Amino acid sequence: MAELKYDKNGRLLFTKEMKKEYTVLVPDMLPIHFNIMRNIFLNEGYKVALLDNSGERVKQLGLKYTHNDICYPALLVTGQFLDALTSGEYDPHKVALIIMQTGGGCRASNYIHIIRKALARSGFDYVPVISFNLSLTETNPGFSLTLPIIRRMLAGVIYGDMIMLLSNQTRPYEIEAGKTDQLVGLWVDNISKQFRASRGYTLREMRENFKNIIRSFAAIPRRKEKKVRVGVVGEIYVKYASFANNGLEKFLAEQGCEVMVPGLLGFLMFKVDARIQDFLIYGGSRVKYLVATKLLNYLEKIEQVFMESVEKFSDFMQLSAYQDTKEPMKGLIGLGNRMGEGWFLPAEMVELIVHGYENIICTQPFGCLPTHVCGKGMIHKIKDRYPGANIVPVDYDPGATRVNQENRIKLMLAVAKEKLCEA
Ligand code: SF4
Repeated sequence: MAELKYDKNGRLLFTKEMKKEYTVLVPDMLPIHFNIMRNIFLNEGYKVALLDNSGERVKQLGLKYTHNDICYPALLVTGQFLDALTSGEYDPHKVALIIMQTGGGCRASNYIHIIRKALARSGFDYVPVISFNLSLTETNPGFSLTLPIIRRMLAGVIYGDMIMLLSNQTRPYEIEAGKTDQLVGLWVDNISKQFRASRGYTLREMRENFKNIIRSFAAIPRRKEKKVRVGVVGEIYVKYASFANNGLEKFLAEQGCEVMVPGLLGFLMFKVDARIQDFLIYGGSRVKYLVATKLLNYLEKIEQVFMESVEKFSDFMQLSAYQDTKEPMKGLIGLGNRMGEGWFLPAEMVELIVHGYENIICTQPFGCLPTHVCGKGMIHKIKDRYPGANIVPVDYDPGATRVNQENRIKLMLAVAKEKLCEA
């Protein structure tokens, strides 16, 4: 059994021995992307389990072991880990937890401390917590993000975005039910296999894969019918994780809508760009600025291949290129506003509006100041500028009932359906 080792500050480390023996538990957020990511780490010799446990017990454990003003995503992730540790499904002495640290000022960088505190209070202080970050805020001998892993992960993000973009536009119209989801599963397996064989992550290989992915989705027989188109924006975890948003996408599909949730690449680019904006606005380390600029340039190249492929091989709709989302923010919000989703949240609302998704749900977690300022706080201004916009902010917290959330959304949909009939 792996020996417990600590760094000089008393932090429990994830050691090389643990890599062989332990299962790393990952809180799920975006099933397509995270399944590809999980397979990348399985290929690298890690044992990984994606957590999809949900329900009242998770919420109650989160409430019990976190401070009562903590934001809802932090509460849910902590509760999900504790629920898994006490479920009997895993040996708590043979698991580690992993959590993303963005390196920013928001609580997303401080989750790790909240989780460690909760582990100590619940008697699991022997469970190591790995920080997943590119800022080297914490390192562990048994876990490293090598360049090949990072390249595969970036490719995984963009493949996930591609599959999500296409499936969002085929699933609501498919003639044979289940065809789209079948294809999603096939492509997740296919891409994972390519990564295992060290293929699929160069720009040339991505171009080829994109062509095949797009053509396969375009070949799904679809009904020609008009549906209410709804965009979903908001805090990243609550926007994507169906457990956190009470199955929002499923609910909208049941209401007969086509749902568009913007992909993950834009958010990643926003986070990298935040380092550049910091330097340009406030000054600071030139080295960080240059590294961020290089990384952003690389992401822009991938994005370009993505967009060219969608345009060339299909008539599927796609949202704006990252850099094009900045211009409409002039007079609305400054680009230095980078806590949480920052200026990119209203930018996503605007790009949805201009691409025909005027009906928008802005998911707002309890305790999230950034989303309240940049999400709810911007709706009025956006509606002034785009009078056709039909935006509803919806709050998510442990006490909010699903019925109340769905009723708010139904009111928004009633206006949307009326407009669709008039069109
Ligand atoms: S953006 Fe909001 S919900 Fe997300 S970690 Fe920060 S405070 Fe919490």
